[in-house]
Amino acid sequence: MERSAAEAYRIDFEDVREWIKDHGFKHILIQAPPGLRKLTFELSEEITPLVDLVTIHGGSCWGGCDVAYKHAELIGADAIIHLGHSRFLPRDPLPTYYLECRYRDPLLLFKALEDILPRLRDFRRMGIGVTIQWQDFLEELRERIQKIGLEVLVGSPDPPLRYHGQILGCSYNTLFKVSDHADCFLIIGSKFHGLGLALQTEKNVYVVDPEIGRTGDLVQEVEKLLKTRYAYIERFRESRRIGVVVSIKPGQYRLGLALKLKKILRESGKRAEILLMDDVLPDQLMESAFDAFVNTACPRISIEDQYKINKPILLPAETLISLGKLGWEETIKTPKYMLMEVI
Ligand code: SF4
Repeated sequence: MERSAAEAYRIDFEDVREWIKDHGFKHILIQAPPGLRKLTFELSEEITPLVDLVTIHGGSCWGGCDVAYKHAELIGADAIIHLGHSRFLPRDPLPTYYLECRYRDPLLLFKALEDILPRLRDFRRMGIGVTIQWQDFLEELRERIQKIGLEVLVGSPDPPLRYHGQILGCSYNTLFKVSDHADCFLIIGSKFHGLGLALQTEKNVYVVDPEIGRTGDLVQEVEKLLKTRYAYIERFRESRRIGVVVSIKPGQYRLGLALKLKKILRESGKRAEILLMDDVLPDQLMESAFDAFVNTACPRISIEDQYKINKPILLPAETLISLGKLGWEETIKTPKYMLMEVI
């Protein structure tokens, strides 16, 4: 028997249908990130009888920051169903249903947890962060961990986070809130999520990635990464022509920040220009006229894509460090490091 793509997730199609009927939507745009795109077909079949037209978005979808409002407007869709993420922006310019696609089965999660628990026994209190897909198992996780005598701290969310204990690759405010009382952190998600936190805290960060069954800490990786980042900061000092990258993606758009940084760069003797992009793609950056970049879009582009770009693409704080306006030691392993603001 053919398996439904939706089987692995807790998806309430009935609720989606009710939402469409209640609002009388006629044209729906469905958007999903890689990994969940198979679901779009099934979802389309579920809702097609209720509307005049369903359109499936086939472009990039990096996060809840990247809802396809502009595409929806262009094709005249009156609502969007966005898969795999929770709401990121405070308000949606167009009605949007966030179909979060939380996992149905915790088996892989609890199996991976058993691997890491022996390494956590020496700690007394631990902050825990989960990605949206594992959100439903947070309470059970807490109970299982507390059985080994460890107190588990779960922080309340501030936007763009929506749920207690939730994390995103660019936002860890639930964990920063409990940081003063935690001896270490546990991230349920992937190395990507753990690394984002490890760059912003002195405390040990442990990661459980249930999907690939990997667990561990990030001590060595974060030290190596920071050395590389410092080398790019040094290279940036020698660069003359700087592109200050602004993305038009709704949750990544920071023109105000970019203008401030451009002014600071010019006052420091750099030739800085605003570089407007949609997806910030390494090939396009490499083809542009700049020696280096400042990133005001998704902060993780500076971490994950740097090796593909081969020219410095610094975070705002790294830019200020490079210009001598902020100290390296006082910034790394603190929440300042990934702050998308001028500190
Ligand atoms: S800004 Fe980056 S890390 Fe944050 S949600 Fe968007 S894609 Fe993910």
